[in-house]
Amino acid sequence: MRLLVVEDEPDLLASLTKALREEGYAVDAADDGEAGLSKAENWDYDAIVLDVMLPRLDGWELLRRLRRTRKTPVLLLTARDASRDRVRGLDAGADDYVVKPFDLGELLARVRALIRRAAGQTSNLIEIGPVTIDTAARRVLRDGQALVLTAREYALVEFLALHRGAVVTRTTLYEHLFNEDDDTFSNLLDVHVSNVRKKLGADFITTRRGHGYCLE
Ligand code: CA
Repeated sequence: MRLLVVEDEPDLLASLTKALREEGYAVDAADDGEAGLSKAENWDYDAIVLDVMLPRLDGWELLRRLRRTRKTPVLLLTARDASRDRVRGLDAGADDYVVKPFDLGELLARVRALIRRAAGQTSNLIEIGPVTIDTAARRVLRDGQALVLTAREYALVEFLALHRGAVVTRTTLYEHLFNEDDDTFSNLLDVHVSNVRKKLGADFITTRRGHGYCLE
């Protein structure tokens, strides 16, 4: 899952980006509204964390313009006691909000919920044959036994599981699993796929030659 964080306070931007990456997300960052809108319009992010008070273009206006072309789930960061700000944000097309200063655990849970809902998934648990993906705990079980996956391996499994039945192209996987600063070699995705197959079974991920990958 690839996220965009738009926040002009350097410390908060850095700590949010770090925390989200530690959760296994690919994260891009923007520190003003214009840069944020430009990235949000050009990439298919899985969710955007958007501060409302931003230089150059505020969060409400960014959202209003973004909604002309994209439905990307947006979580607003709003000021305490500013209920009018929250109403304005929700009316402009935000999907949810947290109030600053927010609890990190709550923000992470809300991001997970946004991504889940955007995929039409109501439960935290996705079951595919003997494999269960727990998107709240971010872990994978096979026959009830928890498996040890790296953050990237988990992200790969979760993305395919949320799009199960559909063929996901390699380009799409690159766009959703790696951030703009990641320096990746073209075969790295194959390494992750290969490792997931070793852990979850060779037939867990189907290769569709010339098209991409699929969970049946
Ligand atoms: Ca701000």
